Amino acid sequence: MSQQFDILKAIYNDTKDEKYQYAILPWGATEPHNYHLPYLTDCYLSHDVAVDAAIRAYEQGRIKGMVLPPIPLGSQNPGQRELPFCLHTRYETQKAILTDIVASLDYQGISKLFIVNGHGGNSFKNMIRDLAVDYPHFLIVVSDWFAIVPQIGFFDEKDDHAGELETSVLMHYRPELVDLSVAGNGVYFPFRIQALRDGTGWIPRNWAKVSQDTGIGNPLKSTAEKGRRYVEAVSNKLADLFISVVEDEIY
Ligand SMILES: [Zn+2]
Repeated sequence: MSQQFDILKAIYNDTKDEKYQYAILPWGATEPHNYHLPYLTDCYLSHDVAVDAAIRAYEQGRIKGMVLPPIPLGSQNPGQRELPFCLHTRYETQKAILTDIVASLDYQGISKLFIVNGHGGNSFKNMIRDLAVDYPHFLIVVSDWFAIVPQIGFFDEKDDHAGELETSVLMHYRPELVDLSVAGNGVYFPFRIQALRDGTGWIPRNWAKVSQDTGIGNPLKSTAEKGRRYVEAVSNKLADLFISVVEDEIY
């Protein structure tokens, strides 16, 4: 960590004299993650992956990006948002936040923003289309960091929420925040209706009906080493994305 911190200081403690080509906005949520992970899990993970990716992009491509503070306001499903301190954020609120950030960056001469999303309930595509109308020279790229590298080959059991993937990655970055001794087993109770199970139709899942402990996915085989291997692959792909979008012609 200390070596990473030194590199970070080298990249980020020089805003007065240095030119930055892009910004990264980690976006999470404030919500229960089973019993063993903190409410800010999606913020920690998206932020920490973004920092790793920014460092790699600097080392490999010599491009400088600023990681902004993570946004802790996510869109929540029924059954989850009723739980104490879970914060549901409307589309309009998220769009207003993103719009103000884009306006600030645009005014400062930074015209490329990468959203590193860590919360499955968030969806930014339509607001990005709207902002492309209002700021035609400003480019916004969105990535769900947890979905850009397949879980197979890294984890034993599939993770949907607070399972092996998220737990392993938080054990890698911030082990002091994980207490597996209190974790539920994350058993999933799917829709009874086949056409909703197979995606013919979509509705938000009522979290109280599909999970007993707010987790979906068994976290018990999580290890920090699994998390380290996975985020290495993820941050490499993100760094490649940053470098090519900053350096290359898109079309
Ligand atoms: Zn999460």
